[in-house]
Amino acid sequence: MVHEIVIAGAGPVGLFLSIELAAAGVRSLVLERLTEPDPTLKAAAIGAVAAEALERRGLRRALEDEHRATLALFQPALKARVGAAPVKAPGGHFAALFLIDQSLQRDPGRHLRAVPQQALEQMLAARARELGVEVRRGVTVEGFEQDGDGVTVQTSAGPLRARYLVGCDGGHSRVRRLAGVELVGTDPTITGYQVVAELDAPDKLPRGWLRTPRGLIATAPGRIFTAEFDGAPADRAAPVTAAEAEAALQRVSGTDVRIVSLTSATRWTDHARQATTYRVGRVLLAGDAAHVHSPLGGQGLNLGLVDAANLGFKLAAAVRGRDDLLDSYTAERHPVGARVLDNTRAQVALLRPDAHTSALRTIVSDLMRLPEGNRYFGEMLSGTGTRYDLGDADPLVGTLAVDRRLALAGGGEAQLYTLLERGGGLLVSPAARTLPAGVQHAHTDDGPSMLVRPDGCIAWTDASSTSLDDALARWF
Ligand SMILES: Cc1cc2nc3c(=O)[nH]c(=O)nc-3n(C[C@H](O)[C@H](O)[C@H](O)COP(=O)(O)OP(=O)(O)OC[C@H]3O[C@@H](n4cnc5c(N)ncnc54)[C@H](O)[C@@H]3O)c2cc1C
Repeated sequence: MVHEIVIAGAGPVGLFLSIELAAAGVRSLVLERLTEPDPTLKAAAIGAVAAEALERRGLRRALEDEHRATLALFQPALKARVGAAPVKAPGGHFAALFLIDQSLQRDPGRHLRAVPQQALEQMLAARARELGVEVRRGVTVEGFEQDGDGVTVQTSAGPLRARYLVGCDGGHSRVRRLAGVELVGTDPTITGYQVVAELDAPDKLPRGWLRTPRGLIATAPGRIFTAEFDGAPADRAAPVTAAEAEAALQRVSGTDVRIVSLTSATRWTDHARQATTYRVGRVLLAGDAAHVHSPLGGQGLNLGLVDAANLGFKLAAAVRGRDDLLDSYTAERHPVGARVLDNTRAQVALLRPDAHTSALRTIVSDLMRLPEGNRYFGEMLSGTGTRYDLGDADPLVGTLAVDRRLALAGGGEAQLYTLLERGGGLLVSPAARTLPAGVQHAHTDDGPSMLVRPDGCIAWTDASSTSLDDALARWF
């Protein structure tokens, strides 16, 4: 049997890619080396454009429910930081500067969702199951060889044949290494911990985020996050002991706080590296397999899930014979990843615990308080400023469409993202015309006419410098 797509890794990116493919009518097989989901505490939130990608695949309600429940838990900490009113749409932070004001953003409704990674993974696994995706746990991808027709994948359960293989196998990606793709960038300079522990006197630690003379400490319900700026971890692979985590908490906080019992602790650092290409023939990379960076600003999922959305419909087209579309994947997503890597480097520079950095933070804070500056940081962190270069002069083309309610010509209303849930493209325009299979038409004279790709990217508008025919032929 030849599988259409084999995905290595059932992390959030691998699972979401399988959902994208299913929406496009293509079956994939997901191989995951772990027999059970990874219990490590990772992301605390999902960025705006990733949340929108999930909404376009029917996960709006699940995201909202989880977001509301998590915010209720975090409300005391958020109030202490942002103000007295309950926070419905946190804007996120840049280098622990919590100044991004959603009300100053072009579209205040485009905001992060406080959905922890474990909840997200459960949500994605359930959706993938509903769509009939097969996830084989306890199977490791060990090697592969590709030829003109497909890829033979060596796994711990024997060989498989697929037309395409996608490495969604995380920062240490074996698929990336075996494909001979280099990961280039900057070395680690800091040591951070994420700790879940019972403390003897939790009140000794600050509430929220604090730069101290020794580094950075952030406390939130259920976790403590630290960073020290005097070098990379000596051994990143060694398990973190309670004594090591306690010493870090004491150094950074300048207190004698003690760990009574340690539930879990992970080390993190700020290496920022990116795959030189996301495609080698029939082998592709997405998520952390394609880029690694520090968790500052919480952007990993925003990058990885949107990689999957960008790749999904192109892979589906490739399975149907349009292999050329795959070249646009690296061209569109690599520059987005490079910008995120750079902003995480800038955040490290802005967090160092010295007087010069404090002076720089004052200046950056002043710029963030200007409406233009606030939008600059808001769009960078949320990903809403993403614009792919599709060679069109209209600034809307290449951006990711905002959801909106459309008044339909025949009466009634529809939500743009709901129309995209079916998986194809969407032409929003008043005029009837013949469309290729897989493109629906929303007849409306409500707002600008536009062609939206399955990943939410606007591929054409009535102000485009290219024709609708060309855009349809290029993407569908
Ligand atoms: C402390 C910390 C805090 C973070 N906070 C945030 C945040 O707030 N917001 C945010 O957006 N991001 C955050 N991140 C980043 C986020 O967790 C990652 O970007 C995300 O997990 C990437 O997903 P992925 O699916 O690409 O990779 P992974 O989650 O690493 O999944 C890869 C999967 O592949 C499997 N695998 C590996 N090798 C093989 C193989 N050979 N065969 C089969 N399966 C294999 C692994 O077991 C794993 O399940 C944080 C990360 C850390 C460490």
